[in-house]
Amino acid sequence: MTISTTVDRVPASLRDWLSKPRLMLIDGKWVQAKSGKTFEVQDPATEMLLANVAEGDAADVDAAVKAARKALDGPWGRISPSARGRIIHKIGDLILEHLDELAQLESLDNGKPFSVARVADVPLSADMFHYMSGWATKIEGKHIPLSTLAAPGQYLSYTRPEPIGVVGQIIPWNFPLLMAAWKLAPALATGCTAVLKVAEETPLSALKLGELLQEAGLPDGVVNIIPGFGETAGAALAAHPGVDKIAFTGSTEVGKLIVQAASRDLRKVSLELGGKSPNIILGDADIESAIAGATAGIFFNHGQCCNAGSRLFVQEKIFDKVAAGIAANAEKIRLGVGMDPDTEMGPLVSSVQHGRVNGYLKAGLEEGARALTGGAPLNAPGYFVKPTVLVDTHPDMKVVREEIFGPVLVATPFKEADDKLIAAANDTVYGLAAGVWSRDVAQAHRIANQIKAGTVWINCFHVFDSALPFGGYKQSGWGREMGQAVLSNYLETKAVTTKLA
Ligand code: ADP
Repeated sequence: MTISTTVDRVPASLRDWLSKPRLMLIDGKWVQAKSGKTFEVQDPATEMLLANVAEGDAADVDAAVKAARKALDGPWGRISPSARGRIIHKIGDLILEHLDELAQLESLDNGKPFSVARVADVPLSADMFHYMSGWATKIEGKHIPLSTLAAPGQYLSYTRPEPIGVVGQIIPWNFPLLMAAWKLAPALATGCTAVLKVAEETPLSALKLGELLQEAGLPDGVVNIIPGFGETAGAALAAHPGVDKIAFTGSTEVGKLIVQAASRDLRKVSLELGGKSPNIILGDADIESAIAGATAGIFFNHGQCCNAGSRLFVQEKIFDKVAAGIAANAEKIRLGVGMDPDTEMGPLVSSVQHGRVNGYLKAGLEEGARALTGGAPLNAPGYFVKPTVLVDTHPDMKVVREEIFGPVLVATPFKEADDKLIAAANDTVYGLAAGVWSRDVAQAHRIANQIKAGTVWINCFHVFDSALPFGGYKQSGWGREMGQAVLSNYLETKAVTTKLA
């Protein structure tokens, strides 16, 4: 396997934008950090400098929260739902108008192939704004008849869903633009204002999105964007008393810190956290499509998906064939720089992730797992990891229990689709997603019903839609992203009762 580093990395159209220090968006203005500090953003494929970015901390977070409050109490709090919806729709349009530019930034900053960002990350981000724009005019309360307190008809009661207020949103680096869209679009649709803390590894596409929000006509201060580090900017946002609600996507470990910070004054929290998702292939499945689906299930986005199908369970009689098929697919995956049109898998996002994933591989092999393919570190610049399939694992191994967040599959055979299989699939602290592959529809649904996870895919994997709720059971999170369900993350319900007679 060779790593391509030959393609010119930065398109001419982006050179100027990247050569200037990128600032943060507070109250409709692009400003330096109050401390004057900046940090370097790296291209993970070459370890070269990509851009300098303003480094926000507690003082900038404070200014952003105040700006968000002012906007909520000001024009945004008074805008009609329809006008709000039109602005949100326009943001979706502008994302599509800047499709190539955003996909290039995503590829350079995160390492993912441009070709993937162009058909997945960016259009899905636009779709989230388009989908949510429709909800702006459909957030309705209910008339509720009372029976306990009064004779029928004596009271009129109704509910009013109201924006929760100023929301602090903290997002990760694996889908930088899409995670910004998942957070901002519903916050705007429900009438909230936001302070978005983007991941330190990948701030660039969200900063470009900030320019598009302004172009779409979003009033100053409605969305404020702070690049900066977790322990400083992120922690300050999670603990800020002016924030009414924190929405977080990231690791379960940091999710617990967010809850601690927010619990001091009982601020509301929603969390989309880690996963160790089971992908179950039954003996009667269409083997070719199951092999293709399981390959994509673990290796899409280099395995850096919270919902990655990282624990594969295959019925004994087809185990060798399926494991070998996935390993063969893994070997064909072309690693390279994201901007190279031939690249199918880029580098991991950072040296930290690279070290972490290689550490898991070492631990897995030392504990007795066997690599059908991959497993060994690559000697090359950039944070590349060979797609890896591990077999001969047992349930207590670190590689089986912990989220690796890299291109590493653990594959295990099972005898029957019985309670033992379900117990093994559910034997994890996580509960984000699962896959089931079978031609027996009734059996597949029976298994889907017993899996403790927020998403179950049958005969497919990684199917996302702005209309489908996504989120976790157990330690994979609180609340749901996307769909109608996400609206409740950003709304309070008020019950109003009037005495009629
Ligand atoms: P990962 O392990 O995938 O890098 P993290 O959970 O560490 O994910 O990071 C996700 C987001 O949380 C990033 O924006 C990061 O800066 C932020 N973050 C990290 N630590 C903290 C913290 N202590 N408080 C608030 N945010 C944090």
